Amino acid sequence: MVNRTELLPIPDKLVVLTFDDGNKSDRLFVADVLLGHDFGGTFYITEGLNFLVNKDHYVTWEEVRELDELGFEIGNHTQHHRNVTKLSPEELTASVRHIEKRCTEHGITKPTTFCYPAFNNSPGAARVLEEIGYKFARRGVAPEFPYQAEGARGPAYDPETHHPLLVPTTGFSGPKWNFDDLKWAFAQAFDGRIAVLCFHGVPGLEHPWVTTKQSDFEKYMQYLKEEGCTVIAMRDLAKYVGI
Ligand SMILES: [Zn+2]
Repeated sequence: MVNRTELLPIPDKLVVLTFDDGNKSDRLFVADVLLGHDFGGTFYITEGLNFLVNKDHYVTWEEVRELDELGFEIGNHTQHHRNVTKLSPEELTASVRHIEKRCTEHGITKPTTFCYPAFNNSPGAARVLEEIGYKFARRGVAPEFPYQAEGARGPAYDPETHHPLLVPTTGFSGPKWNFDDLKWAFAQAFDGRIAVLCFHGVPGLEHPWVTTKQSDFEKYMQYLKEEGCTVIAMRDLAKYVGI
């Protein structure tokens, strides 16, 4: 438990960057763009999808270790990328522990934040994560905003109303999410609210419905820089939000 008096006030223009699924571009492209702006970010790693068999489209564990060493956060996206609402507490725990074990084996900092695969979440799953030591977890844009497969707007994270293990996504990028949506998400990050952005691959080779073009991503990051945003990883929320 953090003593609230030790917390920093939430500044305006606070933005959390997250990248799901361990796309190859995490290491080959995204990391350099973020380093160029001195931005933080979280890479949510799973051994599900085709992580284990398609190393043209997914990062290797060696590349994940490099991202950790570069100062980025490695977050937990479960072993199998299954719908956690259909898992027993024991199955969810095992799936989370598997990624922690892989991180330990590769000398990677133990994850302390989580991302719900395919945005499926429940209060029960959040309780399990809390019991096994997780601090923050990111869900999707629903139920407050309609889920749309190719990118969507969502609520800003308001620590006064949202549970830290059910942090909403303020914007997730895809073919139907554009610069106007990025600017809209930025505009939500005021008065104690935080914009939480979700990207998949830049580009997402295996999942074109959530892909982002490199030129668009560079433009988005440039905008956040020019606006003077504080851009952080999920774990850095602990500086501002008591849990
Ligand atoms: Zn995912």
